[in-house]
Amino acid sequence: MINNRHDLKDISLADQGRERIEWALTEMPVLSAIHDRFAKERPLEGARISGCLHITTETANLALTLKAGGADLVLCASNPLSTQDDVAAALVQHYQIPTFAIRGEDDSTYYRHIAKALGHRPQLTMDDGADLVSELHKNRSDLLAGIIGGTEETTTGVIRLRAMAADGALKFPVIAVNDALTKHLFDNRYGTGQSTLDGIIRATNILLAGKIFTVAGYGWCGRGIAMRAKGHGAQVIITEVDPLRALEAAMDGFRVMPMLEAAAISDFIITATGDKHVLDQAHFEVIKDGCVIANSGHFNVEINIPALENMAVKKHRPRSNVDAYQLEDGRTIRLLAEGRLVNLAAAEGHPATVMDMSFANQALSVAYLWEQGVDLENSVHPVPSNIDQQVAVMKLAAMGLSIDSLSPEQQAYLSSWQEGT
Ligand code: NAD
Ligand code: SAH
Repeated sequence: MINNRHDLKDISLADQGRERIEWALTEMPVLSAIHDRFAKERPLEGARISGCLHITTETANLALTLKAGGADLVLCASNPLSTQDDVAAALVQHYQIPTFAIRGEDDSTYYRHIAKALGHRPQLTMDDGADLVSELHKNRSDLLAGIIGGTEETTTGVIRLRAMAADGALKFPVIAVNDALTKHLFDNRYGTGQSTLDGIIRATNILLAGKIFTVAGYGWCGRGIAMRAKGHGAQVIITEVDPLRALEAAMDGFRVMPMLEAAAISDFIITATGDKHVLDQAHFEVIKDGCVIANSGHFNVEINIPALENMAVKKHRPRSNVDAYQLEDGRTIRLLAEGRLVNLAAAEGHPATVMDMSFANQALSVAYLWEQGVDLENSVHPVPSNIDQQVAVMKLAAMGLSIDSLSPEQQAYLSSWQEGT
């Protein structure tokens, strides 16, 4: 039953959720250290925050860090299929954090949950994909005057917000957490790499060795997925629209070709572009019988699912997270996770080890906004470089790694131009 405190699947899952949240924390040493500092210094005392993020064990640990810092926050899901229902229950029952999220919720419930999170009258927002900020500007502009700033977790959200800023439509400053080096170089690459393969394997239980595996997009996510698929023994093909990235893929040892050619020979096709209809009707017309298709990029638009629905004469669900579409000529296309992020819908999203860095950037950026957001202009801002650097230093130390430092002679050499051969 939806109320002002929560809307979730089953409160009796709370104990299991707490166990898993605590388990994830053991892999989040940087966020743990920030939690302990926040608990002492209370840098977010009284800050009202609404967060629209994947409701996972890792997000729960971010929420607990912000709460330890004095924030009064509510959460809603940033994707209808990524919610871990036991985590939502634990957040409400054990940690008193209002949460509006149910795995498998329909689109209208998804937007109702965002509306509930906005009902908190936030001063700070946290977003993953920019749906909360977009709803705020479209339907709750009465709240805009009270907002100090927001953060954005992912590539596509940053693109949407930059487009808003370019139109003069963005009415508060937003920090692009995605663009921190300690975020996208690790989260998008190693996180998406491992968790996407995890989702595909959990959903299908098909051996990847010896299969032809196509990745659309050779950005940070695409290269992580390609690297891990190669490690499983698959023959990896990359499709791209950017010549530079296509060249990188070729020199990293992958085959590069247009999607129309790749579709005809692939056993798996995974999109990770942030773009629309990367797999479209023309590809379904030539696609290899039995091909597994999935998305690990953006919402459910990278694969043209309405076109697939139109072409199919029959559809059934042979396993959870797999829909088999039979076409008129007898070929079958197997779509995973309804075209939503396969790593979060069919697996558990990125492992805590990388979310540690992403959410350390989130926590420190939120505190920075609370302290200094009023002075920022209404545009998209980078994570301050000292925060990014601090996260790298803390993660390295937590991993027990130390590095060399520059000698005074080396420092002088690296900042001079006079010395030659
Ligand atoms: P990126 O900008 O680094 O890479 C995207 C790549 O896709 C670019 O190289 C671009 O040229 C290419 N591309 C665009 N249209 C294409 C098309 N039609 N065909 C082939 N290639 C095309 O972005 P990124 O950081 O890799 O993120 C990609 C998407 O994944 C974004 O939507 C992002 O929000 C999302 N993301 C998902 C997860 C996850 O957990 N699944 C994690 C991080 C980011
Ligand atoms: N909200 C959109 C946008 C892509 S989500 C959508 O659902 O389609 C991609 C983001 O999910 C990444 O930037 C990553 O930081 C985040 N993510 C991945 N694994 C996660 C996890 N275990 N917990 C919370 N967020 C996670």
